[in-house]
Amino acid sequence: NLTLPYDFDQDLYVGATVVRPGQDPYARNKFNQVESDKLRMDRAVPDTRHDHCRHKQWKSDLPSSSVVITFHNEARSALLRTVVSVLKKSPPHLVKEIILVDDYSDNSEDGALLGKIEKVRVLRNDRREGLMRSRVRGADAATAPVLTFLDSHCECNDHWLEPLLERVAEDKTRVVSPIIDVINMDNFQYVGASADLKGGFDWNLVFKWDYMTLEQRRARQGNPIAPIKTPMIAGGLFVMDKEYFEQLGKYDMMMDVWGGENLEISFRVWQCGGSLEIIPCSRVGHVFRKQHPYTFPGGSGTVFASIQSRLEMKKRLGCKSFKWYLENVYPELRVPDHQDIAFGALQQGGNCLDTLGHFADGVVGVYECHNAGGNQEWALTKDKSVKHMDLCLTVVDRTAGSLIRLQGCRENDSRQKWEQIESNSKLRHVGSNLCLDSRSARMGGLTVEVCSPSLNQQWKFTLNLQS
Ligand code: UDP
Ligand code: MN
Repeated sequence: NLTLPYDFDQDLYVGATVVRPGQDPYARNKFNQVESDKLRMDRAVPDTRHDHCRHKQWKSDLPSSSVVITFHNEARSALLRTVVSVLKKSPPHLVKEIILVDDYSDNSEDGALLGKIEKVRVLRNDRREGLMRSRVRGADAATAPVLTFLDSHCECNDHWLEPLLERVAEDKTRVVSPIIDVINMDNFQYVGASADLKGGFDWNLVFKWDYMTLEQRRARQGNPIAPIKTPMIAGGLFVMDKEYFEQLGKYDMMMDVWGGENLEISFRVWQCGGSLEIIPCSRVGHVFRKQHPYTFPGGSGTVFASIQSRLEMKKRLGCKSFKWYLENVYPELRVPDHQDIAFGALQQGGNCLDTLGHFADGVVGVYECHNAGGNQEWALTKDKSVKHMDLCLTVVDRTAGSLIRLQGCRENDSRQKWEQIESNSKLRHVGSNLCLDSRSARMGGLTVEVCSPSLNQQWKFTLNLQS
């Protein structure tokens, strides 16, 4: 076995798959492979932890962990750096093994060649299984009491593992995540992420980061490195007791390729008696990218199947309801009510309809979308009002060019009735047949104008329940 970092021939391994002159460095991985390939496998990254973490003593008698990394056609340089950073940044006695699950990559050597490195075990799927079944395969093969899941393009930071293991050792039902730092997909710079974020989701069931409320941030001032309870984990990077992972039903084995499993396991952990935490003293970098580099065999619409057996399992485990989860774990999330036909932010490109902090009789405008609800949260209701809390978009003057105002919602007030037209791409005021328009947003506020194909009249709700 090779002892890292010095014995592994990085140049030979990475050199076999370099981007040739004239080739697009983004083509294979949807991140800049040329920049990734330039870096040494054991490059230094900045210590992005809070100062308090540097003086902290971690328990030494922690359980050891099996690190499970699944990958499909990962850039060799990124995969190697992930493995090396685990070995380099973890106390050796806490990493029993690194299990690489090669999810049927085109070149079986990508994984196989890493099998020479100390502690690395390589399993290869003989067909594409997707990340959920691949992780379960890795977990089943694991021999340590604690599982650590990582994506195949990560870099662990100083003392990342101890604080995670400590939380799980104290209570097996805790599922914990590091703060996920950002490895820039264009230049591979390692950048510290904010410590004031929690994981959440929107009603399209897409994961998002929520900035903590002012009260939540204030409450943490006395202890900025305390664990952060989070409604959701990003999903790729987390630590969980192996027995607890099994008791709770691992992953849904009928999920394919990518996506949704982080929401599903997050709901399940909370509803079935566990908890999710982000541990600020643990930091791991991850390459966030905008597109998937891989295919979805059979199409991305076919990745979900019947959830009957999962529902039965949750019943058997005595799990609490989703309503309980919403009320107790994620009270910050505004829930669409049965009166709503569209909900969330009302987007126009990167801008969103915004109250600008105004109240009754104020005008409305647009502001860069921030995905944090607040002044950008709107609903179109069955009785045709466009509502923010108890304020409604009101057409005070039914002539083109007149400013729209916020006014208290009133039933049956024709000045407050709107409908979506043209495949829900525009909002038309019913009484005047004029459309919501942003052309004067910077000069007074939003107006109603004669409906036209103008981009200033294109609006899209985050969630549309109307087809
Ligand atoms: N992955 C996999 N099989 C698949 C799709 C993805 O093993 O069919 C791996 C992928 O290589 C990565 C992890 O699953 O290590 C998560 O995927 P990705 O990084 O694309 O997700 P993201 O971080 O962008 O959400
Ligand atoms: Mn990833």
